[in-house]
Amino acid sequence: EQDINAGGRVAIVGGGLAGSLLALSLARQGVGVDVYERRPDPRVGLSEGGRSINLGLSKRGIQALTEVGLIDQVMPLSVVMGGRVIHAPDGSTRFQPYGKDRGEVLHSIDRNELNRLLLDHAQRHPQVRLHFNHRLERIDKARRELEFDHDGEKVRAQPAWVVGADGAFSRARQEMQRGERADYHQEYLEWGYKELSLAALPGGGSQIELEALHVWPRVHCFFVSHPNRDGSHTLTLFLPHEGPDSFATTRTPDEVRALFNKYFPDLIPLLPNLVDDWVSHPTGSLITTRTAPWSMDEWIVLVGDACHAVYPFYGQGMNSAFEDCSALMAAFAAHPRDRRAAFIAYEQSRRPHTDTLAELSKANFIELKQKVQSFWFLARKRVDAALNRLLPKTWLPLYTMIAHTTMPYGDALKRSRQQEKILLGAVSALALVVVGAGVWVGRLL
Ligand code: FAD
Repeated sequence: EQDINAGGRVAIVGGGLAGSLLALSLARQGVGVDVYERRPDPRVGLSEGGRSINLGLSKRGIQALTEVGLIDQVMPLSVVMGGRVIHAPDGSTRFQPYGKDRGEVLHSIDRNELNRLLLDHAQRHPQVRLHFNHRLERIDKARRELEFDHDGEKVRAQPAWVVGADGAFSRARQEMQRGERADYHQEYLEWGYKELSLAALPGGGSQIELEALHVWPRVHCFFVSHPNRDGSHTLTLFLPHEGPDSFATTRTPDEVRALFNKYFPDLIPLLPNLVDDWVSHPTGSLITTRTAPWSMDEWIVLVGDACHAVYPFYGQGMNSAFEDCSALMAAFAAHPRDRRAAFIAYEQSRRPHTDTLAELSKANFIELKQKVQSFWFLARKRVDAALNRLLPKTWLPLYTMIAHTTMPYGDALKRSRQQEKILLGAVSALALVVVGAGVWVGRLL
């Protein structure tokens, strides 16, 4: 028998969003947990150079945070985003709501603040021990031993079992799959990203609509901004790494100003520190990964970006990482005496859906960089929204199912395709009727 408590304490590698949430979930079930995090404690000093990096929290993440009893602490840290404000090149704006009412919104949250809150609550639990500055280096699978680098010293641990929650470049995954029959696929986007900050007004308040996600779609590149509680916004520019008008060609102050004059002249007056911020903020890369299996025996299992990193364009990476934690806990509940069966059931319940999410996230890249401005895209959105209002239980736009429900991602896509067929059938039938009526009227005349 191998239940979640058998054999002693559990090691979670990575104290990021998924790792800290799962530590809390396991501790609430009476499991002793050691969290090993590569970085220093983010609650001490300023992380990320004091910059705020925010994420959109939606239904799946909210559900997982509710399950561990933290949602009431998290919500006051967030800013509601009721929809997207699209900024056209001529400076005009247009609002696209995220759903049909105030229940269907996203919540912008500072990733570091959320991580600190999760770590605080995990640490308060007597079952949890946090070990910062511990970087996983090696796994000895035969001895079932983890080896960490702790400020230059080797530290070893022999936990009862292990969770790899160490993000997109997971060392736990690499070590687990070394020498095994495992699949791993990784794709880099040819675009990177840079985060800039749009300051609040001097007396407080926001320079642009606060309670919305803002998008500046320019086909060649685009900006997205998330609001902060103090009225500032975190802007993220997505731009090709190489080629004309790319990160490679935008290095000097003049090149930065030229890029903004060409694509985002309306942002220049709002960003007085543009050049300094450009130089001092790093350029990030974006990857999608798919892998299998997600576990080995009854000893190690992966969650979050460690097993499925996705491009950030559907705003679901953290949400799906949190949903993994719920799914793993549900699998333990369904297989209370068989950890290996729980790991397999967890992967079966999740992997097809996170693979779908990866595809949806790629498709949303096209949507954000250009489609949000297209006439047909907007017309389609309006039809979807109207049908959703008319038939709120039966007609659900894809975005609604992904962001505002916990329906598995693959089921949501399937349902959206069925709806698409119905709509196409209805439009074709309508076209036939109109043409038929035209012919009939023509004959009469
Ligand atoms: P991480 O948060 O990456 O945590 C992994 C942790 O493991 C880190 O703390 C790391 O230091 C630690 N670690 C790494 N290696 C080791 C090691 N060898 N030993 C010990 N510790 C280690 N998601 C959303 O839901 N909504 C959004 O709006 C959104 N926007 C995004 C925008 C951008 C630009 C990006 C890049 C991502 C965005 N995401 C968003 C995705 C989200 O950030 C990730 O999906 C989420 O952070 C995954 O959580 P995780 O715990 O699996 O990994």
